[in-house]
Amino acid sequence: MTKAKIAMKTPLVEMDGDEMTRILWGMIKEQLILPFVDLKTEYYDLGLLHRNETEDRVTVEAANATRRLGVAVKCATITPNKQRMEEYPQLTQMWKSPNGTIRSILDGTVFRAPILIDSIHPVVKNWKKPITIARHAYGDVYKSVDLYTTEPGECVLTFRGQSGAEQTVSVQKVDGPAVWQGQHNKESSIRSFARSCFQYAIDTRQDLWFSTKDTIAKVYDGEFKRVFEEEFEGYKADFEKLGITYFYTLIDDAVARVIRSEGGFIWACKNYDGDVMSDMVSTAFGSLAMMTSVLVAPDGTTEYEAAHGTVTKHYYKYLKGEKTSTNPMATIFAWTGALRKRGQLDGLNDLENFAGQLEGACFDTLNRGTMTKDLVGLVDEGAPAHAVTSEEFIAAIRENLEKRL
Ligand code: NAP
Ligand code: MG
Repeated sequence: MTKAKIAMKTPLVEMDGDEMTRILWGMIKEQLILPFVDLKTEYYDLGLLHRNETEDRVTVEAANATRRLGVAVKCATITPNKQRMEEYPQLTQMWKSPNGTIRSILDGTVFRAPILIDSIHPVVKNWKKPITIARHAYGDVYKSVDLYTTEPGECVLTFRGQSGAEQTVSVQKVDGPAVWQGQHNKESSIRSFARSCFQYAIDTRQDLWFSTKDTIAKVYDGEFKRVFEEEFEGYKADFEKLGITYFYTLIDDAVARVIRSEGGFIWACKNYDGDVMSDMVSTAFGSLAMMTSVLVAPDGTTEYEAAHGTVTKHYYKYLKGEKTSTNPMATIFAWTGALRKRGQLDGLNDLENFAGQLEGACFDTLNRGTMTKDLVGLVDEGAPAHAVTSEEFIAAIRENLEKRL
């Protein structure tokens, strides 16, 4: 290659990871990024053993670097569980999920969106554009307490203020065994969630929908609706300038509208709704291997990654010397998302353009029927599809990329 490499100004935060995705990470950099971009990154190895060696300080350092530099790209990582503790006896602790640690340091919201291709149609036939789900990741039923009682009686809910003042409501009087649950959320967390959503809608120039059940939970869900309305005031002018809208509706009405829509918007959901709806939406769009995930902080700091895990089963085959057909699309799009964002922030048109060309080269490859095994069975239009290995797939993308540049 004689062409000069594309220059960067500010480094990206690069968080390496585990297993099969770590192998893909290396291939993507080697084949699709380094030959074309004079890549500048601050590298953090979040591989499980390095997290262990640093007593997980590396995860905190990577999150702090992301705050400082504004944009990160992350590889999937192992969250240790009991089985992993046996698999890696050198682990000194069951280290927490890196994603959880990073999310709480950045106080961010996760946005998940599918990558759509012409030859695979969503199960919902009128969906033409991606639907991005934003899930609030704090509180509600995920931080609730439960109680089972056996005798007749009354349950009350009491808040005891630091000042000593108390507020009490009766939950219910019952005449036999009953179950109870106490939930909470924090205004500060709802506010950060709202800001991340408005910010990401502006960044991606998409409408923002938000749904709760405030007709039933008048105070609880009413608080979510109120905070969103209040925060929207600060973003309204930008929304108008971009011609995008903020739309609030009840969750049941939202479900009906989403199914009838053609997509192309962000759907902000409370914690439980987001848990359920993101599985529904990603399944209807096709493959987990085609889902991207973006963590956005209220100040606009952004971290890009694939929504899937480290693809352990494929890694064990790889270790035995087998060539696997693991789909690198979501990981490639994490890189293009981060490079594009870096280009936008630093005013580097060439870098922004490169991200678009690399994505284009991925689509060129898929449109010719060259794809990984997970996608072949989903193809319902266009060129006959054939499965190739990850290496062959990435080589084909590189060929198409060189044609485009
Ligand atoms: P996974 O890695 O997402 O894989 C589950 C299955 O989905 C795979 O066995 C494979 O199915 C299919 N799949 C996922 N991604 C694919 C891809 N790119 N190409 C082709 N097929 C793909 O989930 P997991 O096995 O439950 O978790 C493995 C590890 O990942 C765990 O240690 C977990 O902690 C971690 N994890 C990390 C993150 C993250 O860092 N963001 C997220 C989730 C899980 P087939 O085997 O049928 O081909
Ligand atoms: Mg779920």
